[in-house]
Amino acid sequence: MGEGGAGRLRIGVLALQGDVAAHATALAEVGALPVPVRRPADLGDLAGLVIPGGESTTLSLLLSSSGIVEPLDALIAAGLPVLGTCAGLILLAREVVDGRPDQRSFGAMDIVVRRNAFGRQVSSFESDVVVAGCPGPPVRAVFIRAPVIEEAGPAVEVLAEIDTPMGCRAVACRQGAITVTAFHPELTTDRRIHEMFVSGIKTPHPHKIAIR
Ligand code: GLN
Repeated sequence: MGEGGAGRLRIGVLALQGDVAAHATALAEVGALPVPVRRPADLGDLAGLVIPGGESTTLSLLLSSSGIVEPLDALIAAGLPVLGTCAGLILLAREVVDGRPDQRSFGAMDIVVRRNAFGRQVSSFESDVVVAGCPGPPVRAVFIRAPVIEEAGPAVEVLAEIDTPMGCRAVACRQGAITVTAFHPELTTDRRIHEMFVSGIKTPHPHKIAIR
């Protein structure tokens, strides 16, 4: 992740655990400046944030010990654009089904999410998914021990759905400045999800918070 980058949007990548490097590469490829976020001080001057996939229970623990939860909560409430993928989606949901009791989430999107909805790691799969806002062919979506969105509130725009053994379920959604995918858009060379996220960032001014 580089220094400089005048004129490029500074997009944080939560770098506590998980698929950080691939998101940074994808962001750079769509013209943004990826910035690793490990401490509260790293949250300054961001135009957006990616919460990558990984393991939501581990991320939840690491978030608590890093001291990032409170300032990030404030930034999300202030409208910071966030892209959450897989475990990142889980961390943004209002309600998590089959989570650990002590697992916390930001509750930023009015969705109920079921963790590990397709079973264990061996049940990971790829699928061609039509995503609203991504013109052209379907997106090749990589699902790794993925969650599904079981319920979405009225303010949530469903961007993509797939057929699952449980029926048709949402796998990409947007609510205000928050976008989530149950799959891993950073693991293919298709940059349309990152492009959609970065080009959708309206504010020319970075969100600022007082870091204490
Ligand atoms: N199953 C993981 C969790 O619950 C998410 C998997 C992923 O991010 N690829 O956090």
